Amino acid sequence: MSEALRAIKGMNDILPPEGAHWEWVEGRMRVLLARYGYQNLRTPIVETTDLFVRGVGEVTDIVEKEMYSFEDKMNGDRLTLRPEGTAGIVRAMIEHGVLHHGPLRGWMIGPMFRHERPQKGRSRQFHQLDVEALGYAGPDVDAELILLTRALWRELGLVEGRDVRLELNTLGQPAERQAHREALVAYFQAHTEQLDDDARRRLHTNPLRILDTKNPAMQALVEAAPKLSEFLGPESLAHFAGLCAILDAAGLAYRVNPRLVRGLDYYNLTVFEWVTERLGSQGTVCGGGRYDGLIAQLGGKGAPAAGFGLGLERLVLLLQTCELLPAPLAPDAYAVVPDAAAAPRVLLVLEALRAAGVAVVMHAGGGGMKSQFKKADASGARFALIFGADELAAGQVAVKPLRDGGEQRLLALADVASWAAELRTA
Ligand code: ATP
Ligand code: MG
Repeated sequence: MSEALRAIKGMNDILPPEGAHWEWVEGRMRVLLARYGYQNLRTPIVETTDLFVRGVGEVTDIVEKEMYSFEDKMNGDRLTLRPEGTAGIVRAMIEHGVLHHGPLRGWMIGPMFRHERPQKGRSRQFHQLDVEALGYAGPDVDAELILLTRALWRELGLVEGRDVRLELNTLGQPAERQAHREALVAYFQAHTEQLDDDARRRLHTNPLRILDTKNPAMQALVEAAPKLSEFLGPESLAHFAGLCAILDAAGLAYRVNPRLVRGLDYYNLTVFEWVTERLGSQGTVCGGGRYDGLIAQLGGKGAPAAGFGLGLERLVLLLQTCELLPAPLAPDAYAVVPDAAAAPRVLLVLEALRAAGVAVVMHAGGGGMKSQFKKADASGARFALIFGADELAAGQVAVKPLRDGGEQRLLALADVASWAAELRTA
């Protein structure tokens, strides 16, 4: 026997019955997105490396450390497996001039790839629901995106406040952030004697990171540092106030977290995350915000936009933890076929049943009546359909209820369609 092959580390298989959980979650998402008027779109999994360097930002964790990039040996192109969805969607919108016809609300579900250390809630291939509202300046659409996520939690049985909660921040505009950054550098420079080595190193590369220090000796210094909120102009403040007013009116509780920045370069104004305490350190289930500069940055005609990415692995894990995943759907019926020679005739009857909307599994692979009934039972089906030789000869099938009690009865093969209709209304 040759050696068995294994999946790539951090790239997981999703097998039954878990596949049914995924289908259920994705199904709820589809219904909900349609209710909000968001339309499905799909972009390629592979894009040019350049797209993400320009779109996500050169000095982000994703671009510096996490991308699966490679050279196409056929033509030397530099390619990358998409680490996130927004850059590709924006590229597609620009390429096809979609926004010339007006704004677009779109969504996509698909795999993303990041070379990270695999652990619970963190894998190298993972899946995101990506929802984007392109061409809208907000803050009404920012609120809509957040309310849509709340509606999704409710649809799935999650309770906001208990299972997930919302964190919110505003990043202002680039010029406001720049002014804040300069004030931070000046402030820390005036206190260099209190900075540790890490902070000294970050002072000119990324002074904002100093604010994340875990060093107790620096806490007081960091607490008293200039805050971004002090540098926000009236328009940025009004945008945030507008968003908060809608969320308040909708009764959605949130925490304003001035430390919330998100790991991608392109955000401005609104940023938000839905976090859970139930998954350990991989607690961010969904994150998003506004990215008004990205479309122009990728070569399009400038237009405002906002969106979010929701991690499906983490969501499914959370639903498992909260025991909210439904039992997999059982078939309506299981066909017991005592004599394999009858299979061709049985198959035709089953086709008629399926055409009439009945979910019916045919026993295959032979075996005695007893083992076939065991399988029928294990399938969770409500009925066993017994295609014995005598019944078939009489143009009939025996219908045996497996769950709700009741008598076994004989059904004429000619009547299976009306039996199917009976099942559907029962
Ligand atoms: P984290 O801080 O956990 O690394 P992130 O800020 O990098 O998350 P985003 O880029 O905002 O994540 O992606 C949106 C969502 O996608 C996350 O909130 C999370 O649910 C999911 N996600 C991101 N990276 C991974 C991963 N490696 N494995 C599984 N899910 C992920
Ligand atoms: Mg990350």
